[in-house]
Amino acid sequence: MYDVIIIGAGVSGVSCALILGSAQNKEFALDKKIGLIAHQKASSLQNAIFNNAYGIPAGKLGSELLLESLEHLENTYPHVDQILKEKVLKIEGTFENFSITTNKNVYQSKIVVVAIGSGNPFLIKGLEQYIIPHKKALAVKNRIQLQNEDHLVTEGIYVCGTLAGHRSQLTIAAGSGASVAGDILTLWNDGDHAQIHDALGK
Ligand SMILES: Cc1cc2nc3c(=O)[nH]c(=O)nc-3n(C[C@H](O)[C@H](O)[C@H](O)COP(=O)(O)OP(=O)(O)OC[C@H]3O[C@@H](n4cnc5c(N)ncnc54)[C@H](O)[C@@H]3O)c2cc1C
Repeated sequence: MYDVIIIGAGVSGVSCALILGSAQNKEFALDKKIGLIAHQKASSLQNAIFNNAYGIPAGKLGSELLLESLEHLENTYPHVDQILKEKVLKIEGTFENFSITTNKNVYQSKIVVVAIGSGNPFLIKGLEQYIIPHKKALAVKNRIQLQNEDHLVTEGIYVCGTLAGHRSQLTIAAGSGASVAGDILTLWNDGDHAQIHDALGK
């Protein structure tokens, strides 16, 4: 049983995983099992080149970020399970007892974060009732999002990145994944607001 599984290892999903992973020394997160399902096909990053993203050197390729971000996660927070090359097909269940079916396995998790981008059609069964037209993309692009309140779709299910209804910019997607991680850490911390900072001299 995972405490949280993040579905999608693009910008918002890996950003969420990094912040959750960084809480490893906090008492409220010590025993938490975190998984990231990384099926790297159909990512917005594949053909992108970034010149306007804070902290990322100009000219960086999205295809490089797809690999380097997972290396960053593995090297810095190896306790986060990376479940590679599996595509999620179905989510069933309720808070603290979700089943996530991929093309190869079934995983159990207490919390699910959906970070698969706003492409249409939405291919994961079980969340159909939350799909609405994207509110911040050109109608002609036919994008979709999941209905949510500050990233919360329903108890135990969060959405982040463009699928949460954010505009398609790398820094917005990254911030949205980080925001969800902060909300989950706060939940694990019994509602006391949590943020994870590393600083020199401490
Ligand atoms: C060509 C192009 C150029 C761009 N240029 C810029 C730019 O210059 N500046 C800028 O700020 N932004 C740019 N963007 C936008 C930016 O890349 C996106 O806003 C950002 O990647 C969105 O992040 P996300 O996490 O929502 O989705 P993504 O980064 O697309 O991540 C979604 C992930 O979910 C995975 N996935 C999908 N379905 C499943 C499934 N069923 N099971 C498991 N995993 C799944 C995918 O493989 C992918 O890794 C560009 C986008 C494109 C397409």
